[in-house]
Amino acid sequence: MAKEAAGAGTTPKPLHELSRRGLARKLQVGKVSTGTLRYLSNTLVGKGFDWLLPVVFSKSTDPLWPDPGASIEKRIETEVYGESVRATQSMIIHKLVACSTAFGKFFVLSPNVRIEKRERGATGWHSYEFTQLDFEVRDGRFEHIKSLVEELIVGLIGELKSERREELTSLGRYGRLTAPKAPFRTFDTATLRARYGEAWEAALPKSISEPVWVTNIPREFYDFEDPSTGKWDNYDLFVPSYGEILSGARREWEYERIRAKMERDGVRKENYALLLKLAKEGRLRPSAGAGMGVERLVSWIVGAKHIGEVQPFPKVPGTVYDL
Ligand code: AMP
Ligand code: MG
Repeated sequence: MAKEAAGAGTTPKPLHELSRRGLARKLQVGKVSTGTLRYLSNTLVGKGFDWLLPVVFSKSTDPLWPDPGASIEKRIETEVYGESVRATQSMIIHKLVACSTAFGKFFVLSPNVRIEKRERGATGWHSYEFTQLDFEVRDGRFEHIKSLVEELIVGLIGELKSERREELTSLGRYGRLTAPKAPFRTFDTATLRARYGEAWEAALPKSISEPVWVTNIPREFYDFEDPSTGKWDNYDLFVPSYGEILSGARREWEYERIRAKMERDGVRKENYALLLKLAKEGRLRPSAGAGMGVERLVSWIVGAKHIGEVQPFPKVPGTVYDL
């Protein structure tokens, strides 16, 4: 992440340890965060998306494997009513089932618990609890998600610059933040590897002045991998100076492909029994969607040095807080 050096400052303090100035800044960031959540949820509801509520414990959650960016120290598993359940790492499995059954397009503000390795406390870009604005569209494709996200980002910056001018000005961000122009540029990872080598993820944010899309990223089984080309129909959104704020994909829905990918990747099929059953019965439907890290989005907007600054209750890897 490009943010690693920038965020390697002091760890954000909890509310009760902040100075008067620190508290005022926290409130300003909170106002920008409120404006962000209001704009994004209102816009999505206005476009006919249903707003689902999140879940905390389930038998199935995102394996977060294989993902070149993942660095999970521990997965939270516990037992309820005699059965083993996992804390939500992402709601991707729930999204696939919701989108294949009742909800054609929806979003959820979903708390994710990811116990990142403690050294990630210094990146300024990782928390061990954060929230995703996670959405999915039945029969969706990259071009739909791309234009939707671009409209959301461009509209959001415009809205905040007009509605949260005072806060952005005192945060020193008003003049520096300009609404990007859509369509955003798109790069294939093959191009980025050729240009920057294996460290492309860290190099890219330093070389852009507007958000850009990155496509074709090998990772978890649920992202669609085109058997005819070997390319992955998935996409991440990167913002200047910071890094990745959104990951998404067109999804796999066919049983044989999901099963084969799980076996190839060493993903435990018993943790995805329901998903596999529905796929086998032909009850999964094609979809596309994405998840945007709310704290990362707000960090970029307010120019935070550390993602914990935009969390009312910071969850910096390696530090356990009272609250
Ligand atoms: P992923 O599907 O793993 O890419 O997660 C979706 C989005 O959640 C990412 O694009 C980030 O914006 C955000 N995210 C992932 N991990 C973290 C983390 N440890 N702390 C804060 N945000 C994160
Ligand atoms: Mg990602």
